[in-house]
Amino acid sequence: MKTPLFGSFKAPATSRHALGPMQQIDVPMRRFRDTDEVDYLIVGCGSAGGVLLQRLSRAGFRVVALEAGPFWDTERDWVSDESGSHKLYWEDPRITGGTDPLAFGANNSGKGVGGGSVHWAAFTPRFHPSDFEVHTRDGLGADWPIRYETLHPYYEQLELEMPVAGPAYFPWGHPHGYPYGPHPMGGVGNALIKGCTSLGIPVSIGGPVAILSGSRAERPHCIYRGYCIQGCKVGAKASTLITHVPDAIAQGGEVREYSMAHRIELGKDGRVSGVHYFDRDGASWFQRAKAVIVAGYAIETPRLLLNSACPGHENGLANSSDTVGRFLMAQAGNVILGRFDDPVRMYKAPPAHALTEQFYETDPRNDFVRGFAIQTVGPLPIAFARQMVSAKRAWGWGLRREMMDYNHWASLGLLGEILPWPDNRVTLSQERDQFGIRVPHIYFNLHDNDHKLIKAAKDKTMQVMHAAGATEVVQEARYAHLVGAARMGSDPRTSVVDKFGRTHDIANLFVCDGSILPTQGSANPGLTIQALAARTADYLIAQGDTIFSSGKRDQTEPRMRKDLAPPDTWGHGVPYLK
Ligand SMILES: Cc1cc2nc3c(=O)[nH]c(=O)nc-3n(C[C@H](O)[C@H](O)[C@H](O)COP(=O)(O)OP(=O)(O)OC[C@H]3O[C@@H](n4cnc5c(N)ncnc54)[C@H](O)[C@@H]3O)c2cc1C
Ligand code: SF4
Repeated sequence: MKTPLFGSFKAPATSRHALGPMQQIDVPMRRFRDTDEVDYLIVGCGSAGGVLLQRLSRAGFRVVALEAGPFWDTERDWVSDESGSHKLYWEDPRITGGTDPLAFGANNSGKGVGGGSVHWAAFTPRFHPSDFEVHTRDGLGADWPIRYETLHPYYEQLELEMPVAGPAYFPWGHPHGYPYGPHPMGGVGNALIKGCTSLGIPVSIGGPVAILSGSRAERPHCIYRGYCIQGCKVGAKASTLITHVPDAIAQGGEVREYSMAHRIELGKDGRVSGVHYFDRDGASWFQRAKAVIVAGYAIETPRLLLNSACPGHENGLANSSDTVGRFLMAQAGNVILGRFDDPVRMYKAPPAHALTEQFYETDPRNDFVRGFAIQTVGPLPIAFARQMVSAKRAWGWGLRREMMDYNHWASLGLLGEILPWPDNRVTLSQERDQFGIRVPHIYFNLHDNDHKLIKAAKDKTMQVMHAAGATEVVQEARYAHLVGAARMGSDPRTSVVDKFGRTHDIANLFVCDGSILPTQGSANPGLTIQALAARTADYLIAQGDTIFSSGKRDQTEPRMRKDLAPPDTWGHGVPYLK
């Protein structure tokens, strides 16, 4: 057949960049010259960086985001396949150590536009009011320089921008509802509900998760095929790649892909003047900027600050307090696997779709402070195989037998709050990466409170799995969600940045990403990271040009700029239940 039934096939236009089956943007985008002095240079275009780029571009600033990874074209670059998605992760060398070392690679940070929001499962619970005053309440950890009430409007805002689907009434922390209705349950969610309800534990069904339960503009609703952590080619799962970056580009912002920042330049006047970076061929460039915002994630942010040491700042930039790299946190993320007689088919749903926060708060009956959440997780076969190797020492024929049984297993993840400790830390090793940049060395040790909390969380999650009817229950110990290592605080002697992300030491250098969190609760951090980014952007916009010339530190809370949200944010979903 020379002419197909519906007309001849056309090659995709080279001026279009696909962000989903229907969502596209025009390329090429605006390109600043290195000799241009842009207003803001953002290092990293991930969860926080994407929101910052969008807000600042829409406010009329000249903004470039340097991104170490690619600017994904989802139709060209992504596959709905577990082994084909490793390029989404940051897999450059990192050295791990300490008594309880963290694993790196697929289970921590992302690389490429959208950062970790491309491969996140998209669970989006808010932090609880107690998270902001852990030290005051429990005598351990730290207090935040802001309270829940400060972030509350930004939580509501970002829940609309992603948007988040969930129950009409979420009972924990500050009770609230969600703008999009809950998702239907998969087999793992059913197990969580059954286990929790038979033990009298309340459970949240169908979210909160930043996955569309109904179509919106150019984004289709979820089709429940379970490739969320592989990027979601469908475009139902929110990532800043598809929620914020398109608007940033339409407003004249630039994303410079394959641009690895390796040193922030400090001028003689004590202000930063730009960033040195390598392109994909290893050529070195310098982008001038009036102000710099580092948004590279909890490992790469301290690494860049430490690698930017210079005369007068021998311990790294913004490190007069010696806290850059310290107070790194991960959440305990043990996976509890249960075998059921009936098939569960845990791949047939987004991994994130049900949870309980019933054990989130400090309980005086416990011998530890703070708490944990229990959530659905839905490992695909390769991840499941790894878990069976770890949990059951399965190998060879034994592993093959477990794999053939995959459809009968359910898995629940606990999310346990590990406190910030000064010895949990990112430093620089003497080894160098492919660009010749010193690689991060990460030390991680669990402390007494952490050990006790993890044990209690593991026991409770196993109890839930048994109560759901599992005939065999095993577990894999692991961590999730790195944050901290450039924490915010009011005291320049014990923190790196102030409550707006401005470094205490350098007036036009900011940090805005997961690294600024003083504590982490047992909620997934992505929503909080993006809410903080929107608030920092509002602050910068309210301060105007003073950021570029003055050392004055105005601590006035900015006016919230809902008008600068991406178009189509309002008027969808259902009104909030107040
Ligand atoms: C498997 C998995 C599932 C997860 N699921 C959830 C979830 O369900 N809910 C949730 O809230 N969180 C989840 N997370 C965590 C979440 O993805 C991260 O907390 C969040 O993305 C961190 O945001 P960030 O802005 O700090 O960094 P990122 O989003 O990682 O962005 C940092 C960006 O900076 C770039 N970069 C770094 N260094 C440089 C440099 N020197 N030069 C240029 N660019 C640089 C990186 O390439 C990256 O794109 C998950 C994480 C993983 C690994
Ligand atoms: S389950 Fe839904 S959100 Fe996850 S990859 Fe499939 S369509 Fe996307």
